[in-house]
Amino acid sequence: MTDTAGRPVVNFEALFHQAPCGYLVTDDGGRIAAVNDTFVRWTGYSRTTLLGTKLQFLMPVGDQILYATHCIPQLGITGSVSEIAVDIVGADHIRRPALLSASRFAAAGQESGSIRVIIFSAHERRLYETELVSALRAAEESDAKRALAEQELRRLALHDALTGLPNRAGLKARFGAAPHGGTRERKSLAALFIDLDHFKAVNDSLGHSAGDNLLVSVAGRLAAAVQASGAVARLSGDEFVVVDEVAGTDDATALAASLLDVMAAPMHLEGLEIVISASIGIAVAQGGGDTVEDLIRRADIAVYRAKERGRNRWELHRPAPSDPAVDRLRALGELRRGIGEGALRVHYQPRIDLRTGRASGVEALVRWQHPARGLLPPSEFIAMAEESGLVRPLGAWVLDETLKLAESLRRNDHGAGLEFAVNLSARQLNDPGLVDMVEGALERRSMDPALLLLEITETALMSDPGAAVESLNALKNLGVGLAVDDFGTGYSSLTYLKKFPVNELKIDRSFIMGLGLDTGDGAIVGSCIDLAHAVGIRAVAEGVETSGQAQALQDMGCDLAQGYLFARPLPVPQLREWLASHA
Ligand code: C2E
Ligand code: CA
Ligand code: CA
Repeated sequence: MTDTAGRPVVNFEALFHQAPCGYLVTDDGGRIAAVNDTFVRWTGYSRTTLLGTKLQFLMPVGDQILYATHCIPQLGITGSVSEIAVDIVGADHIRRPALLSASRFAAAGQESGSIRVIIFSAHERRLYETELVSALRAAEESDAKRALAEQELRRLALHDALTGLPNRAGLKARFGAAPHGGTRERKSLAALFIDLDHFKAVNDSLGHSAGDNLLVSVAGRLAAAVQASGAVARLSGDEFVVVDEVAGTDDATALAASLLDVMAAPMHLEGLEIVISASIGIAVAQGGGDTVEDLIRRADIAVYRAKERGRNRWELHRPAPSDPAVDRLRALGELRRGIGEGALRVHYQPRIDLRTGRASGVEALVRWQHPARGLLPPSEFIAMAEESGLVRPLGAWVLDETLKLAESLRRNDHGAGLEFAVNLSARQLNDPGLVDMVEGALERRSMDPALLLLEITETALMSDPGAAVESLNALKNLGVGLAVDDFGTGYSSLTYLKKFPVNELKIDRSFIMGLGLDTGDGAIVGSCIDLAHAVGIRAVAEGVETSGQAQALQDMGCDLAQGYLFARPLPVPQLREWLASHA
């Protein structure tokens, strides 16, 4: 159709409804005033339900927060936002990854007041993530664009995909790794570990999607109940944690009691009214200082007691009264003696080549046979060894022990060509004697340097990237391989990854755990693998526990894997047996 002047007549309303992306118009309060057919179809809600509803109520909690704290202020200042990754929860309770762009206009015929036009493109976000990675890859892209893509990938890595809350890594990023302790002027930090009672029963009887909805509602309730100084995170399954500042233990227990109340309100799921409860463990930072990790661990201990004592209640973790300075000195003395008296052990975990299914090497993991406390994992003593400098003799011993094993395995058929991975601490990396120590050990055990791999955590590398590049180059010149450990938990950028002369990326266990669980971790793991391959190095997955995870990794082209699925870290006799039976 044309008008009298021969120009085509455009039916704007039809265009609005038939556009390939969702269009919304909201009033300045965020209430939906108009919506196109595409959006209605895409979400499965009726038009009447949508009209008058606040846009953010269609988003999971974490995205609501993003929308309220990022989009709205930016819309107010610059009048537009573009391509913000949010999810929209449809009528079927399924989350739809989307990209939101919005502009603000003055409302017709009014002095004040404005409307917002919001455009959703229902891009698959997986596609979006792949695009981010290719943006990272393209060297000709501008720095600003790359920084944005990196920032966005990081945001995804720090959040739980189901509820949008921060995950454990997100919580650590927010509160840091430093100890927190109360002083007269400052409040102390408290962690409340919240474990839903009988969640498994809901999941089993009503199904997983009802279970997911329940978790999303719980996340919303918790987020609403916590003040701005605090944070709510989802650790895994039905485990949440609230971290906040408190004036003392009374304040913390009052917060726990209020959270129990918040949980007690009935919930509507699958047409049923359900009442849930939770058990809460509380830990408050002590004078000597606890890190957020310490607090969560202590609160976790208390939650067990709350469960034991009948659920739907809180318990406070009270550390045994002691003088931390004296305790520390005693522990340090014990460790020093232990090292001298040969109380350390090394266990070895096989590393599997995902293409052949065979062992390509082993990783050395140190343990301490404590006279009273039994076999202790590194988490109980490495930090102390690191602070006191004991980590140097300890590290040198682990390396020598490992190369000694390599030497003896070379003599039988199962050991030929195996790679030996050894962990280095941040302190060792900064030790000017490190290269000589490694070189000496290689010579002493007649070891081919190419079969030794040194693992350094991403966090250690990034604490002083300039110095790290120097140490790494010196090690590289010896011919040994280098790996970035716990990748994804620190904030290294592609820029650094290119500068570090590393041979492999070890993707942190926290991302592998979520593989196949529809948590978004699949996309992150896929991105890490692509990133490794883009810079020409191997991708290794750690903490593989299920065959589903192994299959997913194989499908994504991951090179190596390590985890309980294949073998736990083993003492030498068991390792020999394992190698013989898997040759
Ligand atoms: P890492 O280097 O990331 O080592 C992997 C950790 O994950 C090991 O814990 C291993 O036992 C555990 N693991 C392996 N597969 C699985 C799995 O499928 N599921 C689960 N849940 N866990 C799995 P471990 O032995 O307690 O060591 C903890 C950390 O201590 C190591 O983390 C490493 O950073 C450090 N470490 C160990 N040995 C040494 C050492 O000789 N020197 C230094 N500096 N650090 C060490
Ligand atoms: Ca390691
Ligand atoms: Ca690791």
